[in-house]
Amino acid sequence: MSDCIFCKIIKGEIPSRKIYEDELVYAFLDISPINFGHTLVIPKEHHQSAATVPENVAGRMFAIGSRIGILLKRFDEYDGYNLHLADGTVAGQVVMHVHLHVVPRGAEDGFRWNWRQQQYPEGRADEIAGILAAKLREKIG
Ligand code: AMP
Ligand code: ZN
Repeated sequence: MSDCIFCKIIKGEIPSRKIYEDELVYAFLDISPINFGHTLVIPKEHHQSAATVPENVAGRMFAIGSRIGILLKRFDEYDGYNLHLADGTVAGQVVMHVHLHVVPRGAEDGFRWNWRQQQYPEGRADEIAGILAAKLREKIG
């Protein structure tokens, strides 16, 4: 897509710090990292949403992201990593070319996900699980 910043990075029209590239995916350092080494893994083909990325490409994104995460864990300051994907503006997606964040994590990194833990009202969890399971069966079989 011609006006997409990540498509331009893949084509070399915008500079990036490349970590990895193959026929399906491209990985490079995030320009404003949560922690140093924070990497983005993107499909070479333009997709806005993960939902339209072919399974083999999505699988490669996950596999390469995990391998980069494992490598980052070997840095002195890190003991783990988060894989994060924001799909849609309300979910925090700013660049509309789907990307998997690999965020290295250390015990003392001072970063916390703002993660809340709600309680389901009576019956609601069963209802939601039922709807999702039925729709998935319909679409996937
Ligand atoms: P998201 O909010 O999930 O859409 O994340 C977009 C990410 O892209 C942010 O973490 C940005 O720092 C990163 N980003 C934006 N422009 C560039 C760029 N030119 N090179 C590397 N990372 C970028
Ligand atoms: Zn793109």
